[in-house]
Amino acid sequence: MDYYSSQISRLIEELAKLPGVGAKSAQRLAFHIINQPLEDVKRLSDAILEAKKNVRYCSQCCTLTDEELCPICRNPKRDQSTIMVVENSRDLAAYEKTAKFEGVYHVLQGAISPMLGIGPNDIRLKELMTRLQGDIKEVIIATNSSLEGETTAMYISKLIKPTGIKVSRIASGVPVGGDLEYIDEVTLLRALEGRVEL
Ligand code: ZN
Repeated sequence: MDYYSSQISRLIEELAKLPGVGAKSAQRLAFHIINQPLEDVKRLSDAILEAKKNVRYCSQCCTLTDEELCPICRNPKRDQSTIMVVENSRDLAAYEKTAKFEGVYHVLQGAISPMLGIGPNDIRLKELMTRLQGDIKEVIIATNSSLEGETTAMYISKLIKPTGIKVSRIASGVPVGGDLEYIDEVTLLRALEGRVEL
């Protein structure tokens, strides 16, 4: 039964496809948008379109950016010889919030998951190995402590070991199965400082 005009229904339907937005929230958002001044709605829709058109992966660390190199890779004050490997750009943002890590990142854009059929070639691992041909002192593996995160960490450390580059894993303290992005900054810092060499 369609209670609303077909255009409102369409808007609700599209919003409901977004992650974390259920049917009720989609309705609330749709009515909020309809009640907003036209310019505000235009700003929102422009922001979505522009981001979609221009955002791409940083050519060095594979995080999402709208330029060839992201601001972190471009920053001359960052230590380019220490790379922290994270699963996604949200985890990078979580570590950046601590403002204590001075190295650079490598964003895998996923984790190895045999169950989901995601193998080493499906994440940005080749790009990491290419970077390691440069002058790199340490690789800190900061994947999540989920099964996938641990599998990925193990796989990467085995790949890097033969190169002689120091590999470390962030300490536990990050709860098992916990997503990095939901963990507070103090815990993240403690995990980084207490990292162990693999
Ligand atoms: Zn970058």
